[in-house]
Amino acid sequence: MSNLTESGITIEVKRKKIKNMYLRVYSSDGRIVLSCPWHVPEGSIRIFVRERIHWIKKNLFQRKQPVQKIEVQYVTGDQVHVWGKGKSLMVYETTKAQGVLYGSDDKIMLYTKKNSTAEKRKKIMDDWYRVQVKEMIMTFISKWEPVMNVKVQEFGVKKMKTRWGTCNIRDRRIWLNLELAKRDVNCLEMVVVHEMVHLLEKHHSKRFYLLMDQFLPDWRERETILRFTGIHSC
Ligand SMILES: [Zn+2]
Repeated sequence: MSNLTESGITIEVKRKKIKNMYLRVYSSDGRIVLSCPWHVPEGSIRIFVRERIHWIKKNLFQRKQPVQKIEVQYVTGDQVHVWGKGKSLMVYETTKAQGVLYGSDDKIMLYTKKNSTAEKRKKIMDDWYRVQVKEMIMTFISKWEPVMNVKVQEFGVKKMKTRWGTCNIRDRRIWLNLELAKRDVNCLEMVVVHEMVHLLEKHHSKRFYLLMDQFLPDWRERETILRFTGIHSC
C-alpha cells in the first residue's frame, strides 16, 4: 500500500488481485481508498484519480460529521495532532515546570503535576500549540509582507468556533484560529495570506480572488483540506 496526493487530497492505494480500479470514500473518517490491479502503472492511477477528483471532493464534503465527538482526555496513548500529523501522547508527572516536549517523530510528551485534571492538561497543550502557531505565523508574515507589499501591525491567536481567521483592516491586525496548529501547516499559510490579502482588498470580490490566485495559486487545494471540519476562513 502506498499513498498518492492529488489536489491536496491523500489517497490510499491498495493493490489487489482485481480486474478494475475502484475508488471509495469512507464516510466514517473521510479516508479515500483506491483499489487497483497489480499491473497498473502509477501514471495511469494518477490519471484515473485526476479525472475523478471532483467526485472525490463532492463525496468528502457530503460526508457526515461524526455525531459523537470523542473528548480527548490528554492521557498517555491519546492521539493528538500537530501540523496535520497524528502524534501519540505520553503524559508524565513532574514536580518541576509543566509543559510539552516533542519526542521522537510520532510522540509528544506532556509534563504535568500529579493528579492534574484533563482540563489542566488541555490547557498546557493549548499553551504549547499557541507558541507553535505564533512562531509559524511570524514566519509567514515575514515571508509575505515584502511579496504582497503590505504591513501587518499586529497578530494574535485565539479559539474561534466559526472562523479560521479574521482581519481588522483599519488596525491592520489579524487573528488566527488556535486550531490551525493541528492542521497541515500549508493551511495556516493559506489563512495568513487570505487575511493579508484583505489588507489590499476588503471584500471577497473578484479582485480578492485574483490576488489570491496571484500570490498562492494552490490556495483552493489548501482550503479543501481545511474544509474537512466545516469551518471556513473569513
Ligand atoms: Zn476573508
